[in-house]
Amino acid sequence: MNYKINELFETIQGEGSFTGQPSIFIRLQGCPVGCSWCDTKHTWDIELKDQVTPDVMFNKTAETVQWSNFTAEDILALVKDKQFRAKHIVITGGEPCMVDLTPLCETFEQQGYSTQIETSGTFEVVTTEKCWVTVSPKINMRGGYEVLASAMLRANEIKHPVATEQHVDDLKALLAKHHIENTPIYLQPISQKQRATELAIETCIANNWRLSVQVHKYIGIE
Ligand code: SF4
Repeated sequence: MNYKINELFETIQGEGSFTGQPSIFIRLQGCPVGCSWCDTKHTWDIELKDQVTPDVMFNKTAETVQWSNFTAEDILALVKDKQFRAKHIVITGGEPCMVDLTPLCETFEQQGYSTQIETSGTFEVVTTEKCWVTVSPKINMRGGYEVLASAMLRANEIKHPVATEQHVDDLKALLAKHHIENTPIYLQPISQKQRATELAIETCIANNWRLSVQVHKYIGIE
């Protein structure tokens, strides 16, 4: 099983339940969902012309469309070689659930790492039982994908980007549709905008939800 990796780096998780946790981010290439405000548009397309060697991918100094093929064992070897210290793996994208993530999560879990996936919920989540699944449901996006019931039910947390009342209404409708009641819900203001932040705060207090403010963007790290 090969994974197309756009970026691999060590940082602090800035969102959701694991906020503040030192983490190794594995960013997979490829996403057809088409969110207009996506901040990783360079991960959308998988073009063979953009395939590079692992060294070139790892040493990128800017966000680019370049990606490299790795097996799970290759990724573990690179993490060890670079002497990353974090013991929490975050698999993000792009849309990571376009592929089976079981071998990748298993490989790291067997070495004592915890694992987390960040997904839009529009593809079936195939991973280990232990893996923490963060569903950030992307509703009515340009790509035309539906948020899947199976993804909503598998979610350990739901993290929803908001900027308008419509985003809040969309989330409430989705939670009602899938009878989600006890999963922790995080609202995340889009692009740190003041109105979005105020809306998120008001809505969190009204519904006993939690606020996720993308801490990494406030402290200027990736
Ligand atoms: Fe971007 Fe994620 Fe939306 Fe894909 S699902 S377009 S990567 S925000």
